[in-house]
Amino acid sequence: MVLGTYKQIVHARSTDKQIQKISQDGGIATGLLCFALDEKIIDGAVVAGPSDEMWKPEPTVALSSDEILAAAGTKYTLSPNLWMVKEAVRQNGLEKAGIVTIPCQTMGLRKMQSYPIGVRFVADKIALDIGIFCTENFPFESLKTFITAKAGVNFDLVEKMDIGKGKFWVHTADDVISFPIKETHGYEQNGCKVCLDLVSELSDISTGSIGAPDNWSSVLTRTEPGETIFSQAVDAGLIETKPMDEGKFGLEMLTKLAKSKKEKAMKEIDQRKELGLPVPYKASSEKEDPLANV
Ligand SMILES: Cc1cc2nc3c(=O)[nH]c(=O)nc-3n(C[C@H](O)[C@H](O)[C@H](O)COP(=O)(O)OP(=O)(O)OC[C@H]3O[C@@H](n4cnc5c(N)ncnc54)[C@H](O)[C@@H]3O)c2cc1C
Ligand code: SF4
Repeated sequence: MVLGTYKQIVHARSTDKQIQKISQDGGIATGLLCFALDEKIIDGAVVAGPSDEMWKPEPTVALSSDEILAAAGTKYTLSPNLWMVKEAVRQNGLEKAGIVTIPCQTMGLRKMQSYPIGVRFVADKIALDIGIFCTENFPFESLKTFITAKAGVNFDLVEKMDIGKGKFWVHTADDVISFPIKETHGYEQNGCKVCLDLVSELSDISTGSIGAPDNWSSVLTRTEPGETIFSQAVDAGLIETKPMDEGKFGLEMLTKLAKSKKEKAMKEIDQRKELGLPVPYKASSEKEDPLANV
């Protein structure tokens, strides 16, 4: 199960024109959080909100649709959203919190829920986890450095960044520049090299652009709450769906990239183990090998 367990996999996008305009892909994260807030399925959400510095996110507890909208779009740097969960529950009094997580954070969240050491009565207040796909992430200074060097643009003029079709894309008001994604690998966080999860396998709903047409998202519903919320949003006409393309630019591509991420990470883990370096994954038995069932 290289994509983790899921109930359904589809292409989807928000039907809201404003969300379509400001979101990274199909606006699934923003659209679902706004819907869940309106329907009182959640009473707030932890998101990667804006800060004083462009493209540097600040984990934020959004209590209104406006605050959820303000966090739309991908920032290719660290936003320690889990750090904000305690504040969301203790300071903002959320009883049913939503959250957006990248795969490593999704794993952290599930660990918090399974072993709530230091977070008793906090982690179980998460009612909806939307996991977004992630191939790699960058320290903020690295991001600025390679955008300026490789795209040759002033970082302050960047209006959107994106990863897709094997390239890193930089949009300014009057230009779109791209360069091969492999040129960014030297700038990524070291931990990403041993990360096994592309698709937030443990989230309630996961979403990303891989395998989807432009401005649509690939969406996997994984848990009962995730499936219910997604179906309700579709029934309400706020999300539209179409069947997942099973071909080489659709499901095949998503599966291939998820598998390749696991294989590369396992190779790096084995190398680090040989050198006696610490690794996040210590099992060497077949049973615990994450690729054993691929
Ligand atoms: C570092 C990174 C790398 C990614 N790499 C890929 C990839 O290779 N392939 C792929 O298909 N998708 C990737 N994604 C996911 C993709 O860019 C979109 O975020 C996803 O498709 C959701 O789009 P949307 O239109 O539904 O989200 P939107 O409606 O635009 O909402 C985006 C949500 O993501 C949250 N968010 C933004 N930046 C961060 C962050 N740094 N950390 C945590 N939460 C954040 C915001 O709070 C917001 O709620 C990556 C995301 C990140 C953060
Ligand atoms: S590649 Fe993995 S470790 Fe790196 S930011 Fe993405 S989810 Fe986290």
